[in-house]
Amino acid sequence: MQRNIPFNKPYVAGHELDHIIEAINRGNISGDGHFTQNCCELLQQRLGIAKVFLTPSCTAALEMAAMLTDIGPGDEVIMPSFTFVSTANAFVRQGAKPVFVDIRPDTLNIDEKKIEAAVTDRTKVICAVHYAGVACAMDQILETAGKHGLEVIEDAAQGVHAYYDGQALGSIGALGAYSFHATKNYTCGEGGALCVNRPQLIERAEIIREKGTNRSKLLRGEVDRYTWVDVGSSYVPSEIVAAFLYGQLELLDTIADHRRTIYQRYESTLASLADRGLLTLPRVPERCRTNYHMFYILLQDGESRDRLMGHLRDRGISAVFHYLPLHSAPMGEKFGYKVDDLLVTEDVSARLLRLPFFNDLTEADQQYVVEQIEEFFNIGSSYPPVFVRSA
Ligand SMILES: *Cc1c(COP(=O)(O)O)cnc(C)c1O
Repeated sequence: MQRNIPFNKPYVAGHELDHIIEAINRGNISGDGHFTQNCCELLQQRLGIAKVFLTPSCTAALEMAAMLTDIGPGDEVIMPSFTFVSTANAFVRQGAKPVFVDIRPDTLNIDEKKIEAAVTDRTKVICAVHYAGVACAMDQILETAGKHGLEVIEDAAQGVHAYYDGQALGSIGALGAYSFHATKNYTCGEGGALCVNRPQLIERAEIIREKGTNRSKLLRGEVDRYTWVDVGSSYVPSEIVAAFLYGQLELLDTIADHRRTIYQRYESTLASLADRGLLTLPRVPERCRTNYHMFYILLQDGESRDRLMGHLRDRGISAVFHYLPLHSAPMGEKFGYKVDDLLVTEDVSARLLRLPFFNDLTEADQQYVVEQIEEFFNIGSSYPPVFVRSA
């Protein structure tokens, strides 16, 4: 029987809908009320972050982070090309130039050993993206940043409740950005948060987030009117969104356990295909504690990846690739990049396939996904390219 297994699916974990009703009954559905405060306090306490601000998206949090560093025209920011567009756009819209560094073939994170060679006297920021909730080598990145006087910003969109040497991702650099988009571990549809880890940046973050005004001071009774004091924008999400999000965040560990189960099922059932060299499974280095954000496989070559994706699609399974590298995109070309500039990035992005992964993915559906992958490789034996080609 044909099934229909989406790549992602909305999930109500507990009291999300009750909280929304409560927010309305409390008489405030604009921002920074009861549920926003609950979300921020929970994240601060559980993840050990100095100050968390909810934002409408991780994109918005990255924009705020870029504004807080005062990066501008002529400045450069080092980041991977293997990331989502918002990592780059947050800085590009400030007038800065993204300098793309290749990734490590094991974690698919920025290759910390290649960062130093990319530093110039215009470099201001290193933006570390924690792919799949597995930490970048933060020790070396912080060391390189310290040596050259650079700020470190973490794009921890995928890294909520993941750790490096026991420290929560997003809490390690000067600033960190989380996503609560529908595809992430904890979600409210569209949402995000800015983690401010350096106390001197908190007041300005608050102002930028409130349209460049000191309105937050008014709400706390510290001033008797509020006014325009800096640049800023509308980076405050509604209480309705925060109420939904709180329903998920209060089940931080329950959701994490769930995702670990799903991840480990893929890992164990696909191990034999990996042992036969047909595909590669994700790897988590010792110092990293993953949050099981996604499960990807790396095929032997781009052609097998595309054929497997089609094979699964024909059987009702939505598996997707990730990312079209930024340096070879039309905007990347405008910054002078060419295809072939970053070999690991291009190789990985052609071979990577993300399998369906959402909080209530059933064991039966997961087994079906794995069976269809196995079937692909059996069929594949009559198509020499899959087996004959070496990685
Ligand atoms: C999802 C994601 C974003 C964007 O998050 P939004 O909340 O949709 O703005 C940015 N960077 C990375 C690495 C992501 O995975």
